[in-house]
Amino acid sequence: MLPYATTAGAEAALGRALTGAEAAWLRYSASVPDHLLYCHNVAILLVIYTLAPLPLALFELLTPRAVTSPLKLQPRTRLSPAAFLRCYFDTARVLLLTVGMLSIVSFPVVKMVGIRTGLPLPSLGEAAAQMAVYLLVEDYLGYWIHRLLHTKWGYENIHRVHHEFSAPVGYAAPCAHWAEVLILGVPSFTGPAIVPCHITTLWLWFVVRHIEAIEIHSGLDFPFNPTRLIPFYGGAEFHDYHHRVGGQSQSNFSSVFTFCDYLYGTDKGYKYHKASIAKLKTVLQRSLV
Ligand SMILES: [Zn+2]
Ligand SMILES: [Zn+2]
Repeated sequence: MLPYATTAGAEAALGRALTGAEAAWLRYSASVPDHLLYCHNVAILLVIYTLAPLPLALFELLTPRAVTSPLKLQPRTRLSPAAFLRCYFDTARVLLLTVGMLSIVSFPVVKMVGIRTGLPLPSLGEAAAQMAVYLLVEDYLGYWIHRLLHTKWGYENIHRVHHEFSAPVGYAAPCAHWAEVLILGVPSFTGPAIVPCHITTLWLWFVVRHIEAIEIHSGLDFPFNPTRLIPFYGGAEFHDYHHRVGGQSQSNFSSVFTFCDYLYGTDKGYKYHKASIAKLKTVLQRSLV
């Protein structure tokens, strides 16, 4: 809850006039307790999980196969509308329960690490720099946790739920055992714990992380995807290969970038697969000439 309830009080505390965004934040948050602001995470997550994969699902279900097949990474595998719905409702239930519980019990930690709710709001540059740190931390810790989940015990008891979809779709991105949803909260929250931010940046971080997870599970490879411009970004093709190989996969553990798999030599299967496909295409093109 903010220590000032009026614009005049906030401007006196800051020593300057409020920006439009700051005035809107003051109006919204002045009387909302901090733990309720933090619990907005659950609603934001559910809204993003419901809406962000929807255009992808409608594209797959309503567009003729002749249009979708060239863009699908595994064109032979198609989910029925019933399978999409089952995936959505099963995953939304697990998310609501686990993230809801986690948001309630982790609030003291959020306060302790210094996530702030007051004014001033962060600048765009500050939020972008913090987000870049969070992505790097998420990628590194997520890589090692994912590798551990591919040990025999980790896979059979926890991670196999996420690999139920060997050809993933956007709605399958957070589809996982409840324990995995909790465990993967660690790399997502470690960045903000190391470099504390404003709560609006924390919300934005969870939105960005969630949309990124949906994109890499989309099973679609759009030629003009702007993420292709991000250096070392893995993307849908990189993670789709991990799902295609399944439980035996010892390749492509990173969730964001490609450098951890390169550094630790866990991209060899993927590189071999890509080289084999390229070779096959060359042979086919030569045979058609
Ligand atoms: Zn995996
Ligand atoms: Zn996955």
